[in-house]
Amino acid sequence: MSGRLEGKVALVTGGSRGIGRAICARLAGDGAAVVVNFARKQDAAADVVAQIEAAGGRALAVGADVSDRAAVNRMVGAAVREYGRIDILVNNAGILARGTALEFDEVIFDRMMAVNVKGIVHTVQAVAPGMAARRYGRIVNISSLAGLGTAVANTTPYALTKAAVINLTKRQAFELGHDGITVNAICPGFIATEMLASLEPHDQEEQLRALASKAVLNRVGDPDDIARVVLFLASDDASFVTGQALAVDGGRMDFLTGSA
Ligand code: NAD
Repeated sequence: MSGRLEGKVALVTGGSRGIGRAICARLAGDGAAVVVNFARKQDAAADVVAQIEAAGGRALAVGADVSDRAAVNRMVGAAVREYGRIDILVNNAGILARGTALEFDEVIFDRMMAVNVKGIVHTVQAVAPGMAARRYGRIVNISSLAGLGTAVANTTPYALTKAAVINLTKRQAFELGHDGITVNAICPGFIATEMLASLEPHDQEEQLRALASKAVLNRVGDPDDIARVVLFLASDDASFVTGQALAVDGGRMDFLTGSA
């Protein structure tokens, strides 16, 4: 197999399903050896590994809850033992729970902060020193359009965590740039995954139509719409791009009309 990421090693958090699964397939398809992180779904992660291997690629499933610093350190240790280093880190793991500014469950908010924000702090602290020593690294953090301020009802605590991811991305880019490491964020719009289905579970067809109408391109995204942009940011085509938060959302009406 040959491609833009030939000889590179990538770690993708939350790689067993949804957007993460598509990212694993894309990076492996362009030649990277991929460490597929999972929290609990070992079977699903093993399935992603089998799919990559069947296509001629290299992959390894490693479990770790990203909110657990010790578990993240063990995962990175296992990845480095297997492949020697990590060149590309994709922080995709995330959780979404509903809430408003007034109905704000503190326990649920703390859990979202622990996974969506601290999880990225943990992985970057574990991986970046090795990247810095080799003076090469690509880090892509998956934020959300919610982090940029789109008005999706009942997602205020989640939006806060995703806004923090954008700021964290800029701080990491600022601090790690001198070591040859780029750090960028992607802000997906609505992407058809189990997370999206959990927002409005009662009538998926109708929900998807309503969400599609919010984008200029009049469709909901596919996980691979995000994975292809991750591939770009992880490749040397994006070697002069850092500290950016790139919306990949089909062109959202609420931004274009200035209402968000
Ligand atoms: P998903 O729920 O299908 O996948 C999330 C993945 O993260 C799962 O594999 C899950 O097991 C993993 N995960 C959750 N907690 C974890 C933990 N503590 N440790 C390790 N892994 C953990 O959702 P998705 O839609 O594929 O979301 C992927 C990313 O994209 C998330 O960060 C999400 O916030 C973001 N996002 C999604 C959308 C969308 O419309 N689907 C929009 C904007 C942003």
